[in-house]
Amino acid sequence: MAVMITDLCINCDACIDECPATAIVSADASPLGEGEYTYVKPEKCIECVDSAVPKCADVCPTEGCIVWDMPYTSEFNDHFVESDNYVIRVHKKKGLMSPEVSPRPYRESISLEQREDQVSVGETLKLYN
Ligand code: SF4
Ligand code: SF4
Repeated sequence: MAVMITDLCINCDACIDECPATAIVSADASPLGEGEYTYVKPEKCIECVDSAVPKCADVCPTEGCIVWDMPYTSEFNDHFVESDNYVIRVHKKKGLMSPEVSPRPYRESISLEQREDQVSVGETLKLYN
């Protein structure tokens, strides 16, 4: 990631059109077999590094719904590839779009401790503001 949407999500889908990386899909389009909630594709999320704040969390009406996950970098390859929370896209030519194959930008201002604790992105927005 990345950011992750949790089971607090009310599936309003307000975040989908805000994402500059088209990383968010509705529950109906979730790659998880029986995905119940709006889903963030970690292989696409860029943590809105070029914006003041992550845009999904900025519009989300549900506090605590979107949380930080680990950086989508090779260091955390297994975290994403072996997780039940994600199904990483398989590209026809490049194969699995894992962190090792296609790392994504991430916010260095968010610590690994905050990510391990899955701190709410909304909570860190308050810190920025
Ligand atoms: S943090 Fe930005 S890039 Fe990532 S899912 Fe949210 S809106 Fe999309
Ligand atoms: S804006 Fe928040 S509550 Fe609505 S779909 Fe996105 S993550 Fe879920």
